[in-house]
Amino acid sequence: MQDLYKISEAEFFSLTDKDVWQVKLTILGSGDTPGTPALNCHCKTCENARKHPEHSRTRFSILIQADDGKNILIDASPDLRFQLIREGVEKIDAVFLTHEHFDHSSGLFNFYRYKIKASEKVLLFAGEDVINHLLVERNLQNILPFRRRPLGIYEKVEFAGIEFQSFKVNHRSRNEGMSARGFLITHGQKKIVVTGDTSPNIPEKTLKMISINPDVAIIDMFTDRNVEFLRESHFILPEAIAFSKQIGAKKVIFVHMSHYVPPHLEFVERMKNHGERFVVGYDGLTLDF
Ligand SMILES: [Zn+2]
Ligand SMILES: [Zn+2]
Ligand SMILES: [Zn+2]
Repeated sequence: MQDLYKISEAEFFSLTDKDVWQVKLTILGSGDTPGTPALNCHCKTCENARKHPEHSRTRFSILIQADDGKNILIDASPDLRFQLIREGVEKIDAVFLTHEHFDHSSGLFNFYRYKIKASEKVLLFAGEDVINHLLVERNLQNILPFRRRPLGIYEKVEFAGIEFQSFKVNHRSRNEGMSARGFLITHGQKKIVVTGDTSPNIPEKTLKMISINPDVAIIDMFTDRNVEFLRESHFILPEAIAFSKQIGAKKVIFVHMSHYVPPHLEFVERMKNHGERFVVGYDGLTLDF
């Protein structure tokens, strides 16, 4: 990864409260459903990513490494195998899923013949509907090493000393009734909001819960263009900026970016006009706490 854009701890947080943080977060994939470069696309962004693979945007997933050595995923990208090998991570202890869509859940299939003891099954935290869809309807419970842990929509759980609270967002699902969610992650005094896939019109209850000046907000930002499509599924740039202000986020990292977002370095330059709060996410971005 280009060192120039590696975000240092000092840039994110004052060094005085350094001791509070013992958790490392890595953006495994910063891309949307098709990824960048997209198959059979030769737009400027895709061509740039082919030429500079470090500017590719693989499908979305986040890794959180706790101070007790536990590795936690937020979503399981179809590119998960490649991402974990890239980061040198061998063992996953828990997965939190935002929703069932292909680009967030199909990475679970990478756990086929995953080498662990039977007693170490990976905890799968997700809505009961999503768990049933993946493990029961698709009959994967016998071949994938997961232990079900259904999560209520605003339920709070603790894992590896980190608190995760899910919240409802506004993302169209092909499977009627399944609701997409984001997560509020709390460790010590620090708070990170991960929106998952969402468009505006997020429920009031959610806005009330997360409008707490989070230290970092990792936000779905599909494109900076004023497109007509996917308007009920994702934020475009002005919406993502407005949302980040609404919740009072101190730092913002854009993820789930499509190839309709300009090439990485070009977009980084452009975002400078919006001030230092905004960070263009990229694969391998880490926050070392
Ligand atoms: Zn393209
Ligand atoms: Zn989705
Ligand atoms: Zn998605």
